[in-house]
Amino acid sequence: MNCPSCGSNKMKTLPVIYGSGNTDRSSISFSKRSVRTGSGRRQTKLAASASPPRGPSLILSLLGMLIVFLLAKWAIGKVAPLAVPSLHGQAMEVWLRFNSLLPIAVAGLIFIFGLLLYSAKRKKHAVRMNEWQNTWMCLQCGGMWK
Ligand SMILES: [Zn+2]
Repeated sequence: MNCPSCGSNKMKTLPVIYGSGNTDRSSISFSKRSVRTGSGRRQTKLAASASPPRGPSLILSLLGMLIVFLLAKWAIGKVAPLAVPSLHGQAMEVWLRFNSLLPIAVAGLIFIFGLLLYSAKRKKHAVRMNEWQNTWMCLQCGGMWK
């Protein structure tokens, strides 16, 4: 494959560039004050620019759901005392019977909604990942082509 922009044949796919630019290493460095040991990944600038799209994090999604739930609970706590005195008869009975279930119902709804959102993000990520794998980069001019 030749670069459509500059005609160079130094084309590589992003996974290849990314893979060749990352090296795992262990290091021990001595300085006057301390001895540092560490292992880390060294990444070239080129590899960084060819890094794969980041996927959604399940933990962050769960954390997001928790925050939404706490906000919802807080909002219910604020609104309920204002709304409840205006309830009459049947509505009041329903409220008294079900208000303890409300947080569970809200948690359930948020959880289902959050999981749907997460799976949608995962699907999007799979598409982007597929595109990443099939993207060529010209090492001559830096252009990217699919
Ligand atoms: Zn080029």
